[in-house]
Amino acid sequence: MEKKTSCVMCGNEHLHLQESEKLVEIDGAEVKIPFRKHWCEECGSEMALNEDLRFNARAMRHARKKHRGMLTGEEIRQIRKQLRLNQEQAAKLFGGGPVAFSKYENEEVSQSDAMDRLIWIVGMIPGLAQLLAKRLKIDLAMEAEVTLEKTATEFKEEYVTQARVAMEATSSYFRGFSAFSTASNEEIYKPDEKAGAVEGVAA
Ligand SMILES: [Zn+2]
Repeated sequence: MEKKTSCVMCGNEHLHLQESEKLVEIDGAEVKIPFRKHWCEECGSEMALNEDLRFNARAMRHARKKHRGMLTGEEIRQIRKQLRLNQEQAAKLFGGGPVAFSKYENEEVSQSDAMDRLIWIVGMIPGLAQLLAKRLKIDLAMEAEVTLEKTATEFKEEYVTQARVAMEATSSYFRGFSAFSTASNEEIYKPDEKAGAVEGVAA
């Protein structure tokens, strides 16, 4: 997991994580969110590693959901567990594609308004999950086993494809640049990200 990354300015490998907070604007309000970057022991340069960018983007998404009164990733996870559903079952029941819940729960995407309200209402009235399952002809108890087997096979194929695509993208990215870029941090804090445009995460 720990990857050797060197300073973009001097090449030194002793980079230190610095955790702080950042004031960002969400819908006209100032909100404080956790913020990460790294600094170089040798030359003092500050830089955002890819892992920092991912962390910061998640923190921003979390703050947006909270500020807009939407369910956070953690709240969605809690509701799903209350309903005794795994992520695949939840996706079958609520829609959004097989990896939707993993993405919602890890703050990798924001759920749509409609999805947010659906999950919330079923969380408030858990019996609705059974009703929904009946309508969709999903046997939640039996489904678990089938899903597990099916997912194992599908996952292998999908994983190989995804891994190949990711490797190609990464190698071409790293050919020109180092493992970090400060510029993309600006993207994260642009005030106009629309919540929940990502129903099609499933691929
Ligand atoms: Zn340096």
